[in-house]
Amino acid sequence: MTKYLTTIGLEFHAELKTKTKIFCSCPTESGGAPNTHVCPVCLGLPGVLPVLNKAVVELAAKAGMALNCEVARFSKFDRKNYFYPDLPKNYQVTQYPLPICRNGYIEIKDAQGQAKKVRINRIHMEEDAGKLVHSGSSLSDSSYSLPDYNRAAVPLIEIVSEPDMCSAEEARAFGEMLRLILLYCDVSDVKMEQGSLRCDVNISLRPEGTDELGVKVEIKNLNSFRAVYNAIKYEEERQADMLDCGEPIVQETRLWDEQSGETRSMRSKEDAHDYRYFPEPDLVPVVLDDEWMEHIAASLPELPAARLCRLTEQLGVGEKEAQQIVQNPPLAHFFDALYDEVKDAKMVSNWLLGDVSRLLNDSGMEFSALPLDAVDTGHLLSLLKQGAINQASAKQVLEEMFTTGNKADDIIAARGFAQISDSSALEGIVAQILADNPQPVADYLAGKKAAFGFLMGQAMKQTKGQANPAVVKELLTKALEA
Ligand SMILES: [Zn+2]
Repeated sequence: MTKYLTTIGLEFHAELKTKTKIFCSCPTESGGAPNTHVCPVCLGLPGVLPVLNKAVVELAAKAGMALNCEVARFSKFDRKNYFYPDLPKNYQVTQYPLPICRNGYIEIKDAQGQAKKVRINRIHMEEDAGKLVHSGSSLSDSSYSLPDYNRAAVPLIEIVSEPDMCSAEEARAFGEMLRLILLYCDVSDVKMEQGSLRCDVNISLRPEGTDELGVKVEIKNLNSFRAVYNAIKYEEERQADMLDCGEPIVQETRLWDEQSGETRSMRSKEDAHDYRYFPEPDLVPVVLDDEWMEHIAASLPELPAARLCRLTEQLGVGEKEAQQIVQNPPLAHFFDALYDEVKDAKMVSNWLLGDVSRLLNDSGMEFSALPLDAVDTGHLLSLLKQGAINQASAKQVLEEMFTTGNKADDIIAARGFAQISDSSALEGIVAQILADNPQPVADYLAGKKAAFGFLMGQAMKQTKGQANPAVVKELLTKALEA
């Protein structure tokens, strides 16, 4: 049987996090009764003129910088013409020959665990279409559809990769890293299940040993990275079976059906000339000067790769733990805030991935909803580090902070958790215990080291567990060996 090589390119649409639409002041927020977030501009009524939203340019350029792209000083808008009821103007304003960003890349790991650069061809700005709401319970038993234009002209960026990926694993890794970068940059909500990040897959197979790419098929309707992965696996098998039987692959758009786990044909794929692109005459070109570019560059946060490097190389957090922290931006930001207080990266990462994560899991909460204050949590960990409270008590205090929102100091005082580390306060207790227990003392001095544990236990009992064990141990040793 012939072996085939897979070639994959990905296209992403990300809704930008602006307050208003791309060419008018209608709100971008989703929900709301149908056709309530609309105006003559986004409905494409005759005689209106679009005005470009400055925030769209800033977020698109910021995403481009984060994705290692060249940001164009000069770009312009074009019209992409097609007829569909969800598109009020019968054309989409997008960018065609002169997009805002070009030639970027994302670094992923290949199957051998080696770093691999997947190139990004372009990023362009465009407007979203509306939505069709179908009657009936599904499209097949629907007798009519009604358009809702609330989403029409919500700003998007389209990110187009080069066909540099060769497996479902690489495609998923690229998508997940892209999502994480956009999340850190705060340019989009990137919620695939809600459609604020959408992914289309282009996939072709060619026999091993040949250079010419096979006919590509586009897969749409993928609303999770699991779906992206499964659809690629399915399509690899389907195309290999066809090629084995000598059947030609048709260039087409296929839909992923989550229920059946299959792709099915939707329509033959349009070529660019089908869209009759031409320059948008109602908008001036977008020109980014030095000052504006610097302003955007200054808004870039620390990106995932740099953050991972800082955690592992500078702060000494383990690779696996650092990965877990960086994957989750709210967790990563909380880590930084806690580290600022405690200055002990290992301790902070252990508590965050251990006790704090357990409390969140038990209550079914996301990290973004964490009801803990970083400064107060840091104060608790500092007390633990200084020996002013013991480990078991600290865990209980954290739990109470989590459930009640009370301050660490108040909980420690109310529950009598303060640990006694002051030697002068403990010296008297140690002396008293030695006086009260002559037999164990004699045993210890005769070489029975186990007697030491008994004496320690007496000291802890006397202080109701609040004595700092390390200090008691030191004092006992000193007194016995005097
Ligand atoms: Zn509008």
